[in-house]
Amino acid sequence: MKQTFRLGTIRGIPFGIHWSVLVIMVLITDILARSVLPAADPAASTGTRWAVAAVAAALFLASLAAHELAHAFVARRHGVRVGSVTLWMLGGVAELADEPPNARADLRIAGVGPLTSAAAAAAFAGFAATGAALGVPATVIASLSWIAATNGLIAVFNLLPGAPLDGGRILRAVLWRRHGDKAGANRTAARAGRMLGGAMIVGGLVVVLLVSFLSGLWLALVGWFIAGSARAEERWTDLREAAEGLRATDIMAPHPDHGWSWQHAGTFIEGVALRSRQSVFLVVNVTGDPIGAVTVERLALVQPRDARVRLGDLSVPLPSERVVGPDVPVITLFHLPPVVGDLVAVVASDHRLLGIITTGDIQRMLRRNRLRAGTPTTA
Ligand SMILES: [Zn+2]
Repeated sequence: MKQTFRLGTIRGIPFGIHWSVLVIMVLITDILARSVLPAADPAASTGTRWAVAAVAAALFLASLAAHELAHAFVARRHGVRVGSVTLWMLGGVAELADEPPNARADLRIAGVGPLTSAAAAAAFAGFAATGAALGVPATVIASLSWIAATNGLIAVFNLLPGAPLDGGRILRAVLWRRHGDKAGANRTAARAGRMLGGAMIVGGLVVVLLVSFLSGLWLALVGWFIAGSARAEERWTDLREAAEGLRATDIMAPHPDHGWSWQHAGTFIEGVALRSRQSVFLVVNVTGDPIGAVTVERLALVQPRDARVRLGDLSVPLPSERVVGPDVPVITLFHLPPVVGDLVAVVASDHRLLGIITTGDIQRMLRRNRLRAGTPTTA
């Protein structure tokens, strides 16, 4: 989640908001000022209602921030580095740079979020009760009660057992602890998240048709986000497990067909590309270093009259971080998007091209891992 506005650091953790939070702030203020507060005190002036509603929306946002920061602080106490905390349209994201070290830490980091929301619900309910006893205006009491109820709802909702919700993390931690298999626990939590998200999308559509367009749409949107995140997490787990202990040299295609930067396109197409099974070719310079890559599609655009254009002029430059040594762990490569065509990385050492890694090589690594694990695949 990209921070649109960075608000500062809280105990060393960069804290910010995404622009979509502003949409939510406006929505909440609007709901409070035009529906909740008029019902509580029809006599209150419009100005009072909007002012109270805006303060309530800000307090609500602060309680969301408390939920996320609680995750971040507990994570840090367990040695997990925290990248940032960002609030956005559907809540907040505490970005953790590492995986929790053990199941107990996983459980605590996940559990503290709903616990914080529940505590906020209790606190605001307490303020509302105290305020009512002291004769505070009805609009203020209604706002405090609304914040209490919404925080309670957030605590319960986040406990639903499917990743990426806190309940999904708790499920993962419990399974991890019981069976000692973190990848398996991860996969079960992600699958549960996918089903949960799917159910919410269907439920949301039913609500759209039968009850309320906006509420239904909201439910479906949250469901869609949960299902998408769960699917991404499943894939991530699979990749991590498959890449465990592998080096670049283990998955690369060795001795790839390649051309030289000064070579004529026509000669290369006739001599190499037409006979090759590759769909992307590396271009190597005079010192033997790979400097770029050219796809079959690009070569196909070369007109006969341009047959003498040099390969170096057709190729897309290769970012230096995509040229890796043979011993680089695969785990650092698989999340990278292809540079050009299906090329993910180039393996070279000492001015010698050793191999290439394409998205196909990564898929092959995945399939081999599933085969090893004995689970049939449809991919
Ligand atoms: Zn949470």
